[in-house]
Amino acid sequence: MNAHNIMEEIVQNHLDAILSSNPGICKCSKCIDAILSRVLSTLPAKYITTDSGAMYTLIDQVKVEQSSEILKELMKVLEDIKNHPLHQPMED
Ligand SMILES: [Zn+2]
Repeated sequence: MNAHNIMEEIVQNHLDAILSSNPGICKCSKCIDAILSRVLSTLPAKYITTDSGAMYTLIDQVKVEQSSEILKELMKVLEDIKNHPLHQPMED
């Protein structure tokens, strides 16, 4: 069976929204990966084994139920990354 952690989708979704309104945060894949894995390690994984429409219903439900918890963890990690950047600022 193909288990899938829908928390990844949800966190990614929130992160996209936060990043688009916070130009100060580095969006390179290294930083994004670090943010995602740190946040996901603090949140309970939600594995499902279907990729049907049920998945999207469940994603919406978890998004609503855990939104404040997910955002709280995301902001904590983002704050930490801002204070302790993973690398020197990049010029581009
Ligand atoms: Zn970066």
